[in-house]
Parts: sequence; structure tokens; C-alpha cells
Amino acid sequence: MSKRDYYEILEVSRTANDQEIKSSYRKLALKYHPDRNQGDKTAEDRFKEAAEAYAILSDGDKRARYDRFGHAGVGGAQGFDPSQFTGFEDIFSGLGDIFGFGGGGRRSGPQRGADLRYDLEIKFEQSAKGVETSIQIPRHEACDTCKGNGAAPGTSPSTCPQCRGSGQLRYQQGFFTVARTCGQCRGAGKVITKPCQTCRGAGTIEQMRKLTVKIPAGIATGQRLRLAGEGEAGTLGGSPGDLYVVIFVREHEFFQRDGNDLHCTVPLAFTTLALGGEIKVPGIDAAQTVKIPESTQTGTTFRLRGKGMPDVSGRGHGDLLVTVQALTPKKLNKEQKKLLEQLAATLPEQTITPSVRDEDEDRGIFGKVKDIFG
Ligand SMILES: [Zn+2]
Ligand SMILES: [Zn+2]
Repeated sequence: MSKRDYYEILEVSRTANDQEIKSSYRKLALKYHPDRNQGDKTAEDRFKEAAEAYAILSDGDKRARYDRFGHAGVGGAQGFDPSQFTGFEDIFSGLGDIFGFGGGGRRSGPQRGADLRYDLEIKFEQSAKGVETSIQIPRHEACDTCKGNGAAPGTSPSTCPQCRGSGQLRYQQGFFTVARTCGQCRGAGKVITKPCQTCRGAGTIEQMRKLTVKIPAGIATGQRLRLAGEGEAGTLGGSPGDLYVVIFVREHEFFQRDGNDLHCTVPLAFTTLALGGEIKVPGIDAAQTVKIPESTQTGTTFRLRGKGMPDVSGRGHGDLLVTVQALTPKKLNKEQKKLLEQLAATLPEQTITPSVRDEDEDRGIFGKVKDIFG
């Protein structure tokens, strides 16, 4: 029997893209799957044929060789075994467990421990300077009594009689071998006849663990630190999970953070703004001096470069932005009042008439009424 053309088998054109090839193969594989065509030899052949064609056409290099040299270019695929084909699970992913792929078998063996999350609230100052703090987390750790194997001291887990230690049971299904997790040992491959008293055979116990966390300067709300291996213990010799510490920085009464920049507002006597001078504002490391020039208007912002938050990855600092705000004295004594009046007399009239009316408005409601009634 001469080999059929791969494109013909997959019912696609020679210019079909990867997606077209994939979806066509998926359709055919479902149609001819041995589970749906029990005992039908033709369907089984079709199924194998499609799998072989897909293995070649889904691989860029092989497809190019096939396009140039035909079956000879890809070694004729003698003895091709579709159940060995690695792209298989990918094709069937999303179809659930209908063929028994990707189910059971995979769950056996060592399991990595779960990742844990810890929400940590810190003060603004701590985020600015960095801090080393300790936290307490409850987590599952390998049991000390049995060293994690779950068997009572002096005994050890024995090989599971059901699966003979493999943790899996294999079934022949058509020409497929399907592996399922062994029910007796739940995939562990070992059974415990005398469980450890401390952990009741689980191999892990919940413990309160105190950990030291180093928080880098510049950290912001929502950022997280990963402590590798500080999550839950793995089972059956699996590696432990990770611990994620999620940071919440309390708001500061004076500074507002924006990226690595810090903003603050400083109320000043209007005389200071008018005459100029030097003021001191709090900073992260030390108080900062800001030079106020003569005749500074209220709302003016001064930028102090590099005096903001440190960058969390160590790349310098943000800026400190100081906005000044004029304060009007709440109470004046007689003398102050007199002085201000004298001053006021010397100042030019400074009335601002804002132009809130534009030409169109001027026509006003009457103009519009006129339009309607002529
Ligand atoms: Zn077993
Ligand atoms: Zn134990």
C-alpha cells in the first residue's frame, strides 16, 4: 500500500497554517479515536495515519523536508507510534479527561509544597529606609518524628502491593496504555502499616514558624518578596513551595509617594513668601533646606533632586517636591493691623476681574428667547 499524502490525510491545503493543521487534526483524531470506534480497524488506521501526518506537518523542519522530498524526506515514518508522540497531550488539552490523558497518572509521585502568602504592613519610615522584621506563619512542615515519611519510628513504609511501588496502574485501552493513580497508595508507591503518632501518617504537621524578612529600602505597597522554599513542605520528597510576603505601606501624614518621588505641602507665612528666606522641611535621611526666593507665589513647587524615595532595586533616588502654601494670620493685634494697613496703602491695587462671560453668553437667555419668538 502506498503512503497517502500527509496534507490529504489531514484534509488541509499545502499552504495551511499551523492553526488550521492543528484544528483539522484534532477533529480527525476525535472522529477516529479508538475509544469511539471499538474494534474498527479502519478507524484505528485512520487515527494512526492522522497522528503521523500531524507529527510531521506540525514540525516546521519536518514539514519543510516533507514538502521538498515527500515521505522519503522524513524517513517514511516506519513503525511510527502515535502514543509516543509528544504533541499529543497538547492537542487534547482542554478536552478534559475523556480519553484518560493527563488525568490520574500525573498526580502521583513527589508533589511540590503549596506557596504561601503573608500580608505585611509596615510604616512609611520602614519602607524608606528598609527594615529587617520577623513574621510568624503557620505552615506544614516535614514531621520531625518520622522525618516526613509518615511511618512510626522503627518502622518504614513498605512497597504498595497493588502497584508494586510505581504508584500507577496501567490499563490497555485500544492500542493505548493509560496510567491511573493507584488507589491503595494514592500514587505514593508505598503504604504505611504503622502510622507515625505525631503526624498520623501524613508526614507533615502544621507548625508556627518564625521567619526573618529583610525588606529593602524603597519598597512600595503591593510589591512582594519571594522567600524561596519557605512555603509548605512538599510531599513524597517534593520540594517545598515559596512564601510571598506582600507589602502594605501605611500612609504618611506629611509625605505622599508617587513612584519614587515624594510630595509634601508646607504652609508658610505670606511674609516669608513675599520676602524670601530659607525653610527647613523634613526629609528621609535628614531635614532639607529649601531656599524661598523673594515674591514666591503660593502653590509654587520646589524640586529637590535625589531627595525622594530610594529606588527599590538600588537605582538612585526619586525627588522631593515641596509645594508652599501661603498662610493668612488668623488673628492680628492692633499694631500688626496698623502695619499691614500701611503696607496695603503702598501696594498697587491688585484686583483681578476674571472674565467668566464670553460673547455668546452675553446674548444670554433673552437673546435665545428672541430667536424662538422672532
Ligand atoms: Zn500503589
Ligand atoms: Zn510523622
